[in-house]
Amino acid sequence: MYPWPDSLWGSTTPSVDRLPSLKEDIHTDLLIIGGGYTGLSTALHGGSMFSSIVIIDQAQPGWGCSGRNGGQINPQWKSSLSHLKSQYSQNEFDDFIKLLNTSAQNVFSLIEQHNIDCQGLRSGALIPGRGTDSRRYLQEWASYWKDYGARVQLLGKSETTEAIGTKVYDNSLLLEEGGSLQPLAFTRGLVSACQSQSVDIYGDTRAQTVTARGNGWLVKTEFGLISCNSLVIATNGYTGRLWPGLRQNLYPVASMISATEPLADDAFSSILPAKQSVAEYAGLPFYYRLDEQNRFIMGGRGTRSGGVGSMDPRHLHRAAIKLFPQLEIARWTFNWAGYVGVTLHQKPLLLRLGENAYAGLGYNGRGITMATAMGRQLTRALAGKSTLLPVESLEKNKFYAFYRLGVTGRILYGEWLDRRQGLR
Ligand SMILES: Cc1cc2nc3c(=O)[nH]c(=O)nc-3n(C[C@H](O)[C@H](O)[C@H](O)COP(=O)(O)OP(=O)(O)OC[C@H]3O[C@@H](n4cnc5c(N)ncnc54)[C@H](O)[C@@H]3O)c2cc1C
Repeated sequence: MYPWPDSLWGSTTPSVDRLPSLKEDIHTDLLIIGGGYTGLSTALHGGSMFSSIVIIDQAQPGWGCSGRNGGQINPQWKSSLSHLKSQYSQNEFDDFIKLLNTSAQNVFSLIEQHNIDCQGLRSGALIPGRGTDSRRYLQEWASYWKDYGARVQLLGKSETTEAIGTKVYDNSLLLEEGGSLQPLAFTRGLVSACQSQSVDIYGDTRAQTVTARGNGWLVKTEFGLISCNSLVIATNGYTGRLWPGLRQNLYPVASMISATEPLADDAFSSILPAKQSVAEYAGLPFYYRLDEQNRFIMGGRGTRSGGVGSMDPRHLHRAAIKLFPQLEIARWTFNWAGYVGVTLHQKPLLLRLGENAYAGLGYNGRGITMATAMGRQLTRALAGKSTLLPVESLEKNKFYAFYRLGVTGRILYGEWLDRRQGLR
């Protein structure tokens, strides 16, 4: 049994019965492995294409990142424009931008369409930075988005200070389409929407092996075999050895979150008065926001080796207090963590694994928007239609065994950059 993390989201979402595990052999048209945003969104978008859809999760839907994240709806990719352009052909880049630009609206539309009670708030997403490198990044994206017609604003020092409530940053990018939600409640809403469309979802059902069978696939679980015509693997940062070589295509890197009790005191009223969500542009970025009850929710790295470790949140509290000294008196009540699926080239991956078999993963910390968007792209790929993400193949990665070392090096370098800029 996979226990739920002790998260703020678990304590503020009405509890539901555990979904039963699979206990017999079954056949389905489409099988989805993984019950997070990717898997649930694939099922929702695939409804009319498949005669039957089954989702299995080794734990329960939302047990992975989809029930643990910071709840920031952010339609901005972290890479610089020039890096992104270097990773795609011109057409692929144009398609990616189209997908990105509609990705927040896509989330809000799903919330509305399925009447999901998840504190969805379109208050905007802010990306603040300090120093010349961040200025270049923010200006480049601001002018690109303006020309594209997206609803963004580049805020100067005083506007950023007013919007966030700290003088630490030089400027910021405001993405008006962004905002926030309660991530586990959003997942549970997607589960209900899937169930109302006759999708069968099994919890506590781990896919152990996948083998080709006839024109389809055979998946072994502990108490039942599942044969299917089409297969989607949606396991992102929790990808194991199920499909040879798949996990070498992304690095699971821990991110940790700490949340305060509701901040009622007037001393806190200058912090994020318009309740935007904030994800820094920095060497090693932190992300934070307030929830509906005014709890301050601060996220950042896990341990320096990229793991969860003993869940020591002191670095999160130190960074929060540096930004907002009044948080010194706040009481932190929840700490939890999860594994973000990071790709070396920073692209999300729509992978063709075999005949009618695909995987969608690698959202680099932007999964509310991108994993939810991936669902539609996966169903289009299965239908043989054009997609807004290029369909790629598995890559061999001979450096995978050393990735933890690379993560540590990257974290130490990022921390050094941020100290040099006076950000920490
Ligand atoms: C701490 C943290 C904060 C984050 N903050 C944000 C944020 O603010 N905004 C944002 O956009 N993104 C954020 N992210 C990233 C975002 O949460 C993820 O990108 C997104 O949830 C990925 O969804 P998914 O469905 O692909 O994967 P997941 O939600 O991780 O689901 C994968 C599922 O696969 C299941 N699974 C794995 N192996 C098997 C198997 N063999 N058989 C059956 N089931 C299996 C797991 O149990 C899991 O439930 C954050 C991530 C973390 C960890």
